[in-house]
Amino acid sequence: MTLLYYDKRLLDHLTGQHPERPQRLEAVARHLERTGLAELCQRPSWSAASLERVGLIHSPEYLAELSHFARRGGGRIEVDTVVSPDSYDVTLLAAGAICDAVERVVRGEDRHAFCLIRPPGHHALPGGAMGFCLLNHTAIAARLATVELGLERVLIVDWDVHHGNGTQDIFWTDPQVGYFSIHRWPFYPGTGDSDETGSGAGLGTTRNLPVEFGTSRKAYRELFRRELADFADKLKPQLVIISAGFDAHRDDPVGSLGLEIEDFAELTTAVQEVAEAHAGGRVVSALEGGYNPGILAGCIEVHLRQMLDRPVT
Ligand SMILES: [Zn+2]
Repeated sequence: MTLLYYDKRLLDHLTGQHPERPQRLEAVARHLERTGLAELCQRPSWSAASLERVGLIHSPEYLAELSHFARRGGGRIEVDTVVSPDSYDVTLLAAGAICDAVERVVRGEDRHAFCLIRPPGHHALPGGAMGFCLLNHTAIAARLATVELGLERVLIVDWDVHHGNGTQDIFWTDPQVGYFSIHRWPFYPGTGDSDETGSGAGLGTTRNLPVEFGTSRKAYRELFRRELADFADKLKPQLVIISAGFDAHRDDPVGSLGLEIEDFAELTTAVQEVAEAHAGGRVVSALEGGYNPGILAGCIEVHLRQMLDRPVT
């Protein structure tokens, strides 16, 4: 089975005319119901992440600022990032989903989880919002795994079309959490060149695969598979977390790197293979980008089918 996290309260982060809008999740949730996939998953109930947990990554000053900004009515907290009155509660709920998923998967309740959450998280920095992201949910969950659950090594795989500068920054000197990212280059946010590999105790635990627009799907998939296997062989993670953005699809209005829906099945398989080899098959995936709601629904369908071991036949 697979754990599936989704709650209608995640729609309460209201962004107006913005690509990161509630309709993304509504379209996916409807599609997962219609295809019967939602029914095949376990649907845990969970609560918002505690301030203590969110504080594993974010500064108390930023958390207070974000909370006050939302309660005062919100607005643009950063050039690309919109906040509405409920946004703070929504991002805490999203962080809570992935924390709950990591706890259950590490406990052995299930081997796979997918968190259908928003806003995305991988650009968020310890002290600030950035690029549609308020809190770095994936980073919070990875640190929960090492600090609270006692894992020694966790791997974050980020296939969102954008480089996860926030996640890279957070774990730059951390030898316990590896960060592996494939992304369009040159592109927003401008970080993620191949010579960015971490520093100090974290030297070598960051790997970036910048990919130019126009690279063939086959070359992209082969690069991802080969480099991921090599990186995981070195890190030997006990848990794999996916920053699953689907904005590398060719029809994405924000990103695009020419991928098709079926490519995400192959990326999922490649992650499952390294998880099988090192982490007892444990994979927790959380949504990042993906801004064409219809396409996003199709991409998440193949991703989830792969995790449920029910690929399209
Ligand atoms: Zn993205």
